[in-house]
Amino acid sequence: MTHFICTTCGTQFSESDEPPPTCPICEDDRQFVPQSGQEWTDMATLGQTHSLVWNEEAEGVHSLQLSPSFGIGQRAFLIEGPDGNILWDCLSLVDEASKARIAAIGGLSAIAISHPHFYSSMIGWSAACGNAPVHIHADDAQWVQRSGSALRPWTGETLRIGQATMIGCGGHFDGSSVLHCPWLEGGRGALFVGDTMQVTMDRRFVSFMRSYPNLIPLDAKAVTAISQAVQPYRFETIYSAFPGRTVESDGNRVVERSAERYLKAIAS
Ligand SMILES: [Zn+2]
Ligand SMILES: [Zn+2]
Repeated sequence: MTHFICTTCGTQFSESDEPPPTCPICEDDRQFVPQSGQEWTDMATLGQTHSLVWNEEAEGVHSLQLSPSFGIGQRAFLIEGPDGNILWDCLSLVDEASKARIAAIGGLSAIAISHPHFYSSMIGWSAACGNAPVHIHADDAQWVQRSGSALRPWTGETLRIGQATMIGCGGHFDGSSVLHCPWLEGGRGALFVGDTMQVTMDRRFVSFMRSYPNLIPLDAKAVTAISQAVQPYRFETIYSAFPGRTVESDGNRVVERSAERYLKAIAS
């Protein structure tokens, strides 16, 4: 029995003898099945060819990503906090070096995930890190491919994790969420956004899409809802899902002017 992993989106599935017939996440219109067809791997095989690279992004903020890139190519974040360490978003591979490094700084108090594209090996990570609770929004629970007792689907608009707040924004997925950490950046705050919003290449704006690979935009109502959901929180830095896609300063104003630009562009 194997926990197969989809090589396109990096999602780990429940145990089975044979690879699953399809990946529902890749079959969905927000993702894609490659022209070469569906392929599968597992964590042991992945560990022979890939490793995790850590980068210190700021004081108390470490990004983790697979090298070479795998699946969607996202970065996860290990955030050191006053109430323990939070893993924001997740990756397909857990390696021994990362496990030891996390244990050495006190383990994980929680795993918090923005949306189904980054569920990856969330239950495997929890098992490797003391069965840390895994917070996902209940509106996306239908997309879970490997469940476990650590899973904590949450409902409503916000979830407090110590001093951090998960904020439900919707848009890309019904339960798409971001994480606000007010103690970072010397108390000016940071926002971790997955791809609920995407930091643009000039790192001065964010944008909003239902699907990035398939270029499906969001409507005005959804973009306004995302902007309004984060408006009550103060943040300087915006960390999105991909390497280098970080807004360094003036985060609140960046979201405001990005929503304004987007709404202006789609106005009839
Ligand atoms: Zn997939
Ligand atoms: Zn996504």
